[in-house]
This record gives sequence, C-alpha cells and structure tokens, in this order.
Amino acid sequence: MCLMMTKPFHSTPAMLNVPAKNSYRMVILGASKVGKSCIVSRFLNSRFEELYTPTIEDFHRKVYNIRGDIYQLDILDTSGNHPFPAMRRLSILTGDVFILVFSLDSRDSFEEVQRLRRQIIECKMCLKDKTKKAMDIPMAVCGNKVDRAELHREVLAEEGERLIAGDASSVYFEISAKKNANVEEMFRALFSMAKLPHEMSPALHRKISAQYCEALHHKSFGLKRAKELGAFGMVSPLARRPSVNSDLMYIKEKVMGRGQPREREKCLIQ
Ligand code: GDP
Ligand code: MG
Repeated sequence: MCLMMTKPFHSTPAMLNVPAKNSYRMVILGASKVGKSCIVSRFLNSRFEELYTPTIEDFHRKVYNIRGDIYQLDILDTSGNHPFPAMRRLSILTGDVFILVFSLDSRDSFEEVQRLRRQIIECKMCLKDKTKKAMDIPMAVCGNKVDRAELHREVLAEEGERLIAGDASSVYFEISAKKNANVEEMFRALFSMAKLPHEMSPALHRKISAQYCEALHHKSFGLKRAKELGAFGMVSPLARRPSVNSDLMYIKEKVMGRGQPREREKCLIQ
C-alpha cells in the first residue's frame, strides 16, 4: 500500500491521500468494564488483556490496501462514563459504523446499550432527511462475555434479538473477547451491512508492520504487484485522535453534504 503514498504510513492522514469515500470511523460504545477495549484489541492485534485498564477515549487507525485501493478505518474506543456528553454526541455524529457492547452478566449494561442505541438514532436523524427511516445506521449490538453466561446470565439472547428486530442495518451477536468466540463473525456482518470491503475483517487480510510497509515503499512496488498481494493492513503506530475542529469538518464534508440544508442548523454540537 505504501507505493501509493507520498510519505510512510505514520504520516498524517492528509498525506496518505486516502479518498474520503474510503475513510470510515467505527465507534465502540457501552458501559464500563463490558469488554469494549478487549474487542478493539482483538480487532487490532488478536490479543486479550485480562487486566482492566480504564479507558478515557482511545483512538486507533488501521490502514488497508485492498486490491490496490487504500482504505482507512478509524476506531474510537470510548469510555463508559462520558464525563463530557457533548464529546459523546460528537463521537456519534462522526461515526459511520457502531459497536454497542454490554456484558451478558449485567442487566444494567444492557439498559445502557438500549439508551445508547436511541441516542445514536436521534443524533443521526438530525443530520438526515427525516423522511428516510432511521434504519440505515450499521450497528452491531454485542452481548460480550458469553464464556461466563452459563454461570451467570442476566440478559437473554431473545432480549438482544428483540432490540434489533426489524432493523436490517443492525445485528446482534453473543461474543467472547476472551475466548475469541464470534468476534470475527461480528465484524464481518457489520462490515457487510455497512458495505465496507469484507477484507477489513481481521482474518481476511495479511497484517504487516510499519517497517515492512516502509521496506515495500523503498522497493517501489507497482500497482499491479499490490493488486496481486490481495488485501493487507497495518495499524498506524502514531495515530492521534483528530481535533474537535477536524471532527466538525468531517461531519460537514462526509455526512452533512448528503443531508438537507434546513436540518443542518438545528444540529449544533452543544
Ligand atoms: P471496557 O471498560 O468496556 O473497555 O472493558 P475492558 O475491555 O477493559 O474489559 C473489562 C474487563 O472485562 C477486563 O478485566 C477484561 O479482561 C474482561 N473481559 C473482557 N472481555 C471479556 C470476555 O469476553 N470474557 C470475560 N470473562 N472477561 C472479559
Ligand atoms: Mg475500555
């Protein structure tokens, strides 16, 4: 993928020259300690962390070359507490795909997911043509820690299914970040609903390091060679969360550009 870049991978996104249509943001929401960061860790490096470390708001970026085209996926791993509601709203507005996580052994966390789902729909509706149904926001609702569900389950599978019933853009999965159960399947279903390349799923591309990427860069691979290689991706090592200003620009360009002008004024970030 490096051959199409003017600078190595850790350059700023603008230098990467990723077309806006190939740039996406995935937002992970849910109560604290339900396993959001562990799911992100599975996605990025197939690891699981037993030790709990509170998240404030983590930002990751994965860049892909899929059959010669560059894609970028930004991942926003949010905190469960959200001390700043306006920031959460901003995260929602910039999100293209969502993962809502609860723990199957916590009813409270399921109720939080219900609230979050309503909030996402409300936030997104204010950007969209109101005549359009709210049903096209790609969302995976995950009941995590299914490995513990036999011992201690507070939410039934039917309740999870019922939450997304009738919504073709949502899926419900019971997963275990710990045992890596159903995690890959969940990502594939989510990307498929969002019409993202399925190769973005962890098992469907080759993972390369920044060093390897730079080596490829120096060997000046051709586009033909990149296409032959199929799909590969790397985690951007120096990715930083874009500023609030950049987020507002992103919303303006990517989301509001498709909305109706009259709706835009009402949707202030406050
Ligand atoms: P977050 O606050 O939602 O980001 O939660 P974390 O990802 O930090 O995980 C919270 C705790 O739950 C950690 O101690 C993890 O090891 C544990 N955990 C996460 N996923 C699972 C899982 O699938 N099964 C089990 N048994 N524990 C998990
Ligand atoms: Mg976390």
